[in-house]
Formats: sequence, C-alpha cells, structure tokens
Amino acid sequence: MKKVVLCGKLFTAENDDVQKNMAVVVEDNLITAVLPASEADTDGAEVIDLSGRFVMPGLIDGHMHCTSNGDTREIPGYYPTSAEATLNGVVNLKKDLMAGFTTVRDEGCSDFEDVALKKAIIAGKIDGPRMITSGKCLTATGGHADSRYPYYLEPGQHESLVCDSPDAARKAARMVFKYGADQIKLMGTGGVMSMGDEPGAPEFTFEEMKAALDVANSRGRMSSVHAHGAEGIKIAVRAGIHSVEHGMLMDDEAIDLMAEHHTYLIPTIVAAKAIVENGVASGIHPENVEKAARCVANHYENLKKCLNKGVPICFGTDAGTPGNYHGTQTREFGFMQEAGLPTAYILQAATSRNAELVRMNDCIGTVTAGKLADLVAVDEDPFDNIHTMEHVSFVMKDGKVYKNN
Ligand SMILES: [Zn+2]
Repeated sequence: MKKVVLCGKLFTAENDDVQKNMAVVVEDNLITAVLPASEADTDGAEVIDLSGRFVMPGLIDGHMHCTSNGDTREIPGYYPTSAEATLNGVVNLKKDLMAGFTTVRDEGCSDFEDVALKKAIIAGKIDGPRMITSGKCLTATGGHADSRYPYYLEPGQHESLVCDSPDAARKAARMVFKYGADQIKLMGTGGVMSMGDEPGAPEFTFEEMKAALDVANSRGRMSSVHAHGAEGIKIAVRAGIHSVEHGMLMDDEAIDLMAEHHTYLIPTIVAAKAIVENGVASGIHPENVEKAARCVANHYENLKKCLNKGVPICFGTDAGTPGNYHGTQTREFGFMQEAGLPTAYILQAATSRNAELVRMNDCIGTVTAGKLADLVAVDEDPFDNIHTMEHVSFVMKDGKVYKNN
C-alpha cells in the first residue's frame, strides 16, 4: 500500500541541507518519490503526519555486539552458552531498532549467533535491524577477546578464533565465511575489556593480518580491525583493512596512512565513556576502567585531526560493552558533537557515510527515490539540539512502521 510521509523538516543526507514541508512517498518497501508536501498526491494513500518532526534516513550503527547486554557486573568464570547469547540478541536487536537503527554491523560474537539472528530477521521471525555480520573474531593467543576462556578448551571453543601464524589466520578467515558471516573482524591490538593485554601494542604481525585480509579482499568482502595503538593500525591499513575500530591511540602517521587509503574510522566514543562514567563502583574491573580512561584521553584531539585530514569518520557505538546498553547507544551523537564534529557530518556518519562503509549505499543511507524505505524522525531539530537523537519517535524499516510515538 502507498504511504505518504509528511515531513516538517527533512534531512535526506544526500547533502548538508534541511528542507521544510516535504513528503516522502513509499510504496511497499521502497521510496518512490521525495517532493514538496504541497505536490504530494495523497489519494488512496495512508498519510503519516510527521509535519511537526525532523525526518531523516534510518540510522546505521557501524559497530555493535548484539549478543552482549552491557552488564557491568560479570560473574568471574561464567561464559554464556550460545543459546543464552542468542536470546540476548533477540531482545537487544529489537531495542536497537526501536532506538532508530534500521541497519547494524555486528562486530563479533562467540558462536555465529549474529548469523542466525540475521536469518531470523530476514525470515520475519523476529523484529530487528538489517544486519551485517562478523561471526567469530580472529585474535592471537592471549589477545583481545582471548583473555577470559580457560586454556584447556579446544581451539574452536574459545570466544574467538585464535591464530598465531599466517596459515592459521587464513584458515580462520575462511571459516568465518564458511559459517555465513558477511565480513571478518580482527583484533589488531590489545583492548580495554580484555585482561592483561596492552591497547597500544599490536597483536598480529603484518604477515598474519595480510593472510586473513587476502581471503576477505579476494572475495570482495569487508573487514574491520579492533585497533587502539598506532602500530596495529598501520599494520592493518598496509595489509588492506576496510575499517579501523576505536583508533583511540593513533598517531599522525597512522592518520595520514588512513587518509591515503580512505580507511574508515569508527570512533566508538560512548563505549570508553560509559566504562569511565560507571567506573569500578559499578563492578567493572579496575584494569578495564584504567585502560578506558587512558584510551579516551586524546581521542577528541585525534578525531579533529582525522576530520581535517579527510579520514572518513563513521558512526559506531560498540553497544553491548559495559554500561553501553542497546537502545541507548544514540548517546554517541552528543559525544561526536563534543569532539568537535559538525552536526551535518555526524548525521551523515550515521546514515550516508555508514551506508558507504557497509557497501550498501545503492539501497540505504539517504532519503532518495529508489532506495529502501528506512526512515526515522525526532521531535526536535538535531541542528539545534543533537540530544534529540536519543529519543527517536518514529521508525520505518523497509516501508513498515515499527514505532510512531
Ligand atoms: Zn566491539
């Protein structure tokens, strides 16, 4: 059925402009026209009146973990089963959709739960965003996402695929694709929420990284690297990585290299901020809080340099990390503004630029005739108050309305 969405203000994300009194015509799951409201033919159409609201493309979270809840109090030695993780994913993905995220890129879970959840959403069994999946991450022994499971488990039973040679990295990348993930995720440096590693230090050699990335790149698949430290970023960029996640301890050479290679950066500011804000009192281990504080200290300065050098900065939240709950990751908008990024640039990061990041800009990311009908609305103009993005009041995905408060 034809729907006509009346938009008080419309940000198509095709450019920096905000248009007033526009209409978006939707037929089935597609946008068929974008035109002044006065010219819209509403005969026989369902009219959705958002004439008091600010409408924009459906949001894209370029980095989240659907099976993680954001709990700050972990029970030592307890590792959720895949069944428990999958059920967490069902609940979390619905929260993400209701917060305005019509597409998400899952950056790794422990047993390909994201692949199963993606299939369930496509089949219409559960409500959730369109998904891009990573399955299990690749890491080195004792690296990020290999610090919490006992050593006596079989290799395949660990949280990540552990590889310590180019051959092992190549095999792990092939396994990720074998079990249906869309891209590979590599742990290129130590991290905040792992134990005993160093965020500034690289964990994969160039040869290991290249072996895994050759598998992805030869298949035309995406890849992303968890990397804080500058050396790990440089290894990944030189080896052919598609996007750098976090990047909180980068240096000028890493920024120049990313600009030269047009490597996307997902800053995930809210993840580090939430760990520091909640702190040890919330149950997070002191080592993790200390590392988060250290990582985020110069992040804003580096982001300004990235903006000036032309590194494409995308929107990703790491939702599911401690205190960074699904459905509340829209706080990232305010932090990106606090970092000094312009409002139009931030809104494009979460829409048109993220659509390029996930290589879906032919069908999502802007309000354009011919694209999928993914729309969200907020009650205020984010150019006046960016925090209105924390209260998305209308969500349409694929032409279906999931929320209209
Ligand atoms: Zn992550």
